[in-house]
Amino acid sequence: MKIVVINSGSSSLKSQYFVDQQSIASIVMESIGSKNSTITVTIDNKKIEQKGIEQKKIKIETPLPTHHEALKILFELYSKYKIFLSIDELDGIGHRVVHGGSKFNKPALITTDVIETIRSLIPLAPLHNPANLDGIEIIKSLYPDTPQVAIFDTAFHQSIPKEAYIYPIPYNYYKDLDIRRYGFHGTSHQFVAKRASSIIGKSLSHLNLITLHLGNGASVTAIKDGKSIDTSMGFTPLEGLMMGSRSGDIDPAIIPYIVRNHHLSVDEVDTMLNKKSGLLGICGTNDMREIIKRAKDGEDIYRTALDIYIHRIRKYIGAYTILLGRVDAIIFTGGIGENSSYIRELVSRDMEQSIGLHIDIEKNRTAEGDTSSLHSRDSKIDIYLIKTDEELEITRECEYILSNL
Ligand code: ADP
Repeated sequence: MKIVVINSGSSSLKSQYFVDQQSIASIVMESIGSKNSTITVTIDNKKIEQKGIEQKKIKIETPLPTHHEALKILFELYSKYKIFLSIDELDGIGHRVVHGGSKFNKPALITTDVIETIRSLIPLAPLHNPANLDGIEIIKSLYPDTPQVAIFDTAFHQSIPKEAYIYPIPYNYYKDLDIRRYGFHGTSHQFVAKRASSIIGKSLSHLNLITLHLGNGASVTAIKDGKSIDTSMGFTPLEGLMMGSRSGDIDPAIIPYIVRNHHLSVDEVDTMLNKKSGLLGICGTNDMREIIKRAKDGEDIYRTALDIYIHRIRKYIGAYTILLGRVDAIIFTGGIGENSSYIRELVSRDMEQSIGLHIDIEKNRTAEGDTSSLHSRDSKIDIYLIKTDEELEITRECEYILSNL
């Protein structure tokens, strides 16, 4: 099938073109709405049978005043570079949608009803859902005959049981304001879980996993018999692990205390917790490469940032091990999980006695490629590095929906 995946953000638009689940080309548009918009077209020439170098990267600077304009130019560029000639060639378009609330536990073919439901969820994701919806509605108006599918970041976590998704605050906040754990990064957790199942050679419905998505945003999920039963992100992506610039779990009483003492507004607190906390808040940078280097050089504040980061991941692994009862594998993914053997080693150390987890230091240090096994022979729990690919997962989900129409 021929599918274009679209991830429409507030000022960017990322798209990738797949033919039978093979990525052929991508077009990324940045700074939409500003004077300095840029477009990067990347074409895998080998796959579209053109001669010349294997991968071609073209950078274009052109004004992209609105998402409407950007989407028109997007399909003109796909045609101009002969990636595909017309949108009519496509079987469908898959959209990443951040929030599906409690309404969507699987991908949905776009209909007027689905659009209205996504719109009704805007209060839960005021920054993301409007941009995702824009992409869907603009394509619907430009190309009404092309099937579109929405794939939700929250859907994978809809299997989480009540005791894990209800917060112990007055129950009416759950009933009236839909305040509950939703969880995010679902497409990534699902992708690596499926990949783990094929590496291990056991059906996903019989596997218990702890999946660690460690990027700038970070979350950990407990997967029992292939289904998410708990995840660290909550009502918003702020809860859970320490992240690049997000605090993760803190005592909620800190907020009124700071507000009273520093006279911050609600928006200022929101910015502080989401954009000025986490690794950045402790040591001034959220680039894990720099933090590791400076911690190794003996700079205390970087070591402290790293220690907090690792401590919190280990706490979740302990808790989720108890919830799962039996853990078949721990998976590392995301920019940090995939690239930093040092972080993987620190997270996995000293767990032999408690849960029987042994990392093979040499295998971990020399790991490369999209998937690697990192555990030693006597480990009771497998450890894998699996490179995540959310766009490929969106394509697969999109194909599944379209072929079952
Ligand atoms: P996002 O959540 O924005 O998609 P990524 O998954 O791309 O983020 O992860 C970004 C993080 O990965 C950054 O903190 C970056 O420093 C870190 N990272 C990338 N390469 C390495 C590496 N080789 N070692 C340690 N950290 C790395």
